[in-house]
Amino acid sequence: MKCDCGGTVKKHKVSKEISLAGQKVFVQNIDASVCDKCGETYFDGETLIKLEKQLQKREKQAA
Ligand SMILES: [Zn+2]
Repeated sequence: MKCDCGGTVKKHKVSKEISLAGQKVFVQNIDASVCDKCGETYFDGETLIKLEKQLQKREKQAA
């Protein structure tokens, strides 16, 4: 897979803050694809769905 910048995107486990459903979420040790040139992080659809479900669960618990 290639990044828009022309760099090569490789699979990594990442821990970082991302924006999801309009909220900041800190994710730890999840699968992502990271560009070795510009550092852009890509998540696959399945991972995003999983994260969204976790986020919804957290909102319910908080309410
Ligand atoms: Zn890039």
